[in-house]
Amino acid sequence: MAQLLDGKHLADLRATKLKQKVTHLKSEGIQPLFCVINIGNDPSSKIYLKTKKRRAKEIGIKQKLFQLSSSVTQKELLSLINCLNEEEKVNGIMIQLPVPGQIDLNEALAAIDPEKDVDCLTPANVGRLWRGDHFVEPATAHGILTLLDYYHIELKGKNVVIIGRSSIVGKPLAAMMLERDATVSILHLKTKKLSEYTKRADVLVAAAGQPNLVTADMVKKGAVIIDVGINRFNGKIVGDVDYAHVTNVASYITPVPGGVGPLTVESLMEQVVQLTRRKHGK
Ligand code: NDP
Repeated sequence: MAQLLDGKHLADLRATKLKQKVTHLKSEGIQPLFCVINIGNDPSSKIYLKTKKRRAKEIGIKQKLFQLSSSVTQKELLSLINCLNEEEKVNGIMIQLPVPGQIDLNEALAAIDPEKDVDCLTPANVGRLWRGDHFVEPATAHGILTLLDYYHIELKGKNVVIIGRSSIVGKPLAAMMLERDATVSILHLKTKKLSEYTKRADVLVAAAGQPNLVTADMVKKGAVIIDVGINRFNGKIVGDVDYAHVTNVASYITPVPGGVGPLTVESLMEQVVQLTRRKHGK
């Protein structure tokens, strides 16, 4: 059986350290403030918002939710983003995904001040990420690298295969793993035969949102498996990996829940603190 990569445990450890950093900032009169814009009433978003709010409170970060109606216009959204950009006290801004169809997400993201872009989704910060001189990191990718580092899993020279090319997971993770000298392949729906790539992976990341997409026969013996997927399946939360069988082939594996998820929330809080410290020249 593969060794478990315990994201929950690591997230708790890091939260304790982060809390100390926030306490120190507060002692200097600096209060990290994080603003989340949510549009409409997506049920999954509600769960994520609740988790973020609880984590921020535990760590001592002030979080403000801007709940907008599902019929909000692009102009109204841009006007809110501009206000938050200009507000001195705001250190981080994020737009909770998904957004309704009338919203031009790319334009809205581009309107966020890169210095307050906690999700690292503004064009300037995406460019910096690929150039390797970034000051903020996308939460999920940051969480995954933190987990690999904690378990001393080296990426240099390794074959990394990432299933999924979204802007929030697959693409930024590829950029950051490339920066660590891994050889990275990104797979997607048009990839002809997934297993031809996955079988060569030393580190396999599944971020497709498809239960049981990765089966044991697709995995090289001793591979490290990072399951990013969060899917509701047969009344349970499962990842993208057939955990019960893949665990017999892999050397390390993340559980779902309790793997990447807790580290994503924790990493988001770390980005808020990082941007706050940066603003104050720390
Ligand atoms: P998206 O739907 O934006 O992207 C999914 C990606 O997977 C796309 O690139 C898509 O390809 C690819 N894909 C889907 N099905 C297949 C398939 N059968 N074969 C190959 N590629 C496939 O999803 P997200 O990146 O936002 O999220 C992915 C999963 O990760 C979801 O389950 C989500 O809930 C979860 N998630 C978990 C987080 C955590 O903290 N654990 C954080 C963020 C997301 P194409 O581009 O061709 O459409």
